[in-house]
Amino acid sequence: MASMANRVPAAFDRDYQMLIDGEWTGSSTGETLRCVDPFDLHEWAQIPAASAEDVDRAVAAARRAFDQDGWPQRTPQERAALLRKLADRIEAHCDELARMQVHENGKLMSEMFGGARAMVPHARYVAGLAENAMGHSVEALPGFTSYTVKEALGVVAAILPWNTPLGLLSWKLFPALAAGCTIVIKPSEVTSASTLRLAELCQEVGFPRGVVNVVTGHGQPTGAALANHPGVDKIAFTGSTGGGKAMMAASVHRVGRTTLELGGKSPNIVFADADLDDAIHGVMAGIFAATGQSCMAGSRVLVEASIHDAFVERLCAAAAKLKLGDPLAADTDMGPVACRNQYAKVQEYIAIGKAEGATLANPELADALPDTGLFVPPTIFTGVAPRSRLAQEEIFGPVCSVIRFEDEDDAVRIANDISLGLAAAAWTQNVGRAHRMVKRLRAGTVWINAYRVAHYTMPFGGFKESGLGRELGPDALDPYTETKSVWINNGAVRQSFGRKS
Ligand code: NAD
Repeated sequence: MASMANRVPAAFDRDYQMLIDGEWTGSSTGETLRCVDPFDLHEWAQIPAASAEDVDRAVAAARRAFDQDGWPQRTPQERAALLRKLADRIEAHCDELARMQVHENGKLMSEMFGGARAMVPHARYVAGLAENAMGHSVEALPGFTSYTVKEALGVVAAILPWNTPLGLLSWKLFPALAAGCTIVIKPSEVTSASTLRLAELCQEVGFPRGVVNVVTGHGQPTGAALANHPGVDKIAFTGSTGGGKAMMAASVHRVGRTTLELGGKSPNIVFADADLDDAIHGVMAGIFAATGQSCMAGSRVLVEASIHDAFVERLCAAAAKLKLGDPLAADTDMGPVACRNQYAKVQEYIAIGKAEGATLANPELADALPDTGLFVPPTIFTGVAPRSRLAQEEIFGPVCSVIRFEDEDDAVRIANDISLGLAAAAWTQNVGRAHRMVKRLRAGTVWINAYRVAHYTMPFGGFKESGLGRELGPDALDPYTETKSVWINNGAVRQSFGRKS
């Protein structure tokens, strides 16, 4: 791999500090970690690696802000106003926030910019949810006034992955703040600088001390210290399914609330009656957008037997046309994989696929990679056995497993025969089949003749081991609230117990 001059802007390449209790601070141990640009492997930025003691301070600050300083008692209008101010700050810094994430994880600038810009209406939408939140008045029993109120849940630990650092953070940060919770954020060690920059914008907006805190560092010890902390009321986690199980284990002894957004191995099903021009685009976007590093990646491509060979030929031809290169360049279709660990994992699965007897349909693309960075070609395996590791395990890279099916029942059986259930898609022009597939596919999101569409107004989350709970949509505040049932005796009912005297 050739070396080149550091292209990370000087303003990004600095010593960052964590935000704890309204103060900018380093790690108590002085330990740090670096960001690595996966396009040219240049190291940049100095990020504190928080100790358990730092995590303790952050949770104590969030606890005090919640329990004593009155953040949950602020009116929804006040909290919404701060969120709208944050939206304005993000709007003014979209390009910077997007560019920083590109230097952290190598995703395309076009995608990261769109994601940063989408946070602006998202924050305003959640502000509206705060203002419109309400309980129910219930006619339960004669003589009582009874109603429910939604109250802020408490201190939230938000633990995040590297693939969409700020977008996924906003799914947690906005509703937590809107509901009146306080938060301690632990971004991925791969993408901490952009989160610390967003925390700076939160500070400028004027959230009170201790309401927003960020600790940075690796899963061990930083993430684990946060997840296991007795002062945390709720874990909001996005990451691998293995990580999600660790979060459940960490919170079980305190009956801690959890929302888990986890891995996927989603089926993208192409029927012979589909518009195949559209389907090719949908399959390509499903697995090769974001270099396959998307929880909702359509990594299992199920193709009806009668069109299988012709479809695979078209898919390979389309993959060969993808331009791999600089994620900042407007004409790049696929950037590098985000980090060295992920690169090694993807290579390992390509070897597993070969060892399991699947056919690598386009091996020639491996000889035409850019000479810098962590590049993996758009890789297509055919003849993949539905129960093989290649077909069952999330790779999180540009590796597509093509599986042949005979008819609709066969497609549904293969699609659902897996422990994950984040998303699924079917390509068909038969309206009846489209509706049947919506009902039969076991996944949190189902697309018909589309892939990778999401919006902050629509709930997102997984069936089975792909997650627990839902984020986004009109109920986005619910996971950050507790419901309290209130009974008021109107005076007509005498409380009595036992024998009347
Ligand atoms: P990961 O599980 O390795 O790490 C996620 C976060 O958990 C990181 O901040 C990490 O430092 C932290 N962590 C790791 N071990 C920990 C521990 N023992 N205790 C506490 N924290 C710990 O995931 P990743 O590799 O960063 O991200 C990729 C994964 O995220 C993929 O599986 C992908 O499908 C998933 N993901 C899911 C969604 C969704 O909405 N369902 C969205 C994006 C990514």
